[in-house]
Formats: sequence, C-alpha cells, structure tokens
Amino acid sequence: MKVKVDEDRCIGCGACEEICPAVFHVDDDTGKSRVIDEDACDFAGCCEAAEENCPEEAISIEE
Ligand code: SF4
Repeated sequence: MKVKVDEDRCIGCGACEEICPAVFHVDDDTGKSRVIDEDACDFAGCCEAAEENCPEEAISIEE
C-alpha cells in the first residue's frame, strides 16, 4: 500500500495524525503532514479513515 500526502494541498490541520499517528506526522517546521511509516498502513488499518477525513483531500492511497 502506498500512501502520499500532497503538501501543496495540506493545511496542517492534524486530523490525519490524530486518526493514524503511526503513519502521519505534522512536521513542526513545515506545518505540513508527512508520512513517517508507510508500512504501518498495512496493519494499522486507519489510513483509509485518514484519507476520508482529510478536509483538503490531500491524502491518496494506492493499493
Ligand atoms: S488531514 Fe489532510 S490537511 Fe489535515 S494535516 Fe492531514 S494531510 Fe494535511
């Protein structure tokens, strides 16, 4: 599973990190979310929820 955050769209709201902290982290320096552990998606099962709840549709998942 491949997970990506489009930094141009991300507004750093933190929803993805709240939902799925094993995979997403909002970087203090950039104020944008980034993927810290893509492999965690396969067992954490929360990447889809993060994708659905991102207000900017910045998260994309490829099987
Ligand atoms: S939920 Fe979307 S807009 Fe909010 S921090 Fe995560 S990627 Fe960025």
